[in-house]
Amino acid sequence: MAQQDTEQQHSGVLPVDDEGFVIDTGNPEEREAAYRGRGTSRPITVVGNPVLHKECRDVTDFGDDLARLVDDMFASQHTAEGVGLAANQVGVDLKVFVYDCPDDEGKRHTGVICNPVLVELPAERRQLDESNEGCLSVPTAYAPLARPDYAEVTGRDEKGNPIKVRGTGYFARCLQHETDHLYGYLYIDRLSKRERKDALRQMAENEPRYPVVAND
Ligand SMILES: [Zn+2]
Repeated sequence: MAQQDTEQQHSGVLPVDDEGFVIDTGNPEEREAAYRGRGTSRPITVVGNPVLHKECRDVTDFGDDLARLVDDMFASQHTAEGVGLAANQVGVDLKVFVYDCPDDEGKRHTGVICNPVLVELPAERRQLDESNEGCLSVPTAYAPLARPDYAEVTGRDEKGNPIKVRGTGYFARCLQHETDHLYGYLYIDRLSKRERKDALRQMAENEPRYPVVAND
């Protein structure tokens, strides 16, 4: 068993810490630039597009097509100045998201998660944080939303290796927000009716600052 564990620590795209979580804070600028440099930016789907409102398919093929998609997602995320992006936000029905996001200490986390599952936290770890949240698929709108300030996600990296990712602060919010996307939920689905309406009004009144896919 020990042998297998050691192998796993070195076979993934990113190194892991002694608790088995990926270390996604090393060379974030270089890694993000490498993905983005190979990719082409795509327009962002917005609320109302059916691809955003249903559960995406599991990733089963961790080959070149996925690698190309991930590169394009980093490019799109950069164009739209996002900190996280789910595949259905570029119109692709697959469970994968990318992120480039600071945590509560301002440390930058950069990575890719396929088939993410949020880990249920014990009650004592569920400290709610009520910060503002926004979404590239609800352009220009923001609303406060209470979420746990710590999150763990299990899934696979872009090569198919099992991974665990954890985060605090804004990055914890990002992990939850992006996982929600892949199950067909937007953050505005977690708001009260009135707050949701207000977010949609903000979106209707302002122009997005990046290319979006028009809804029919
Ligand atoms: Zn979003």
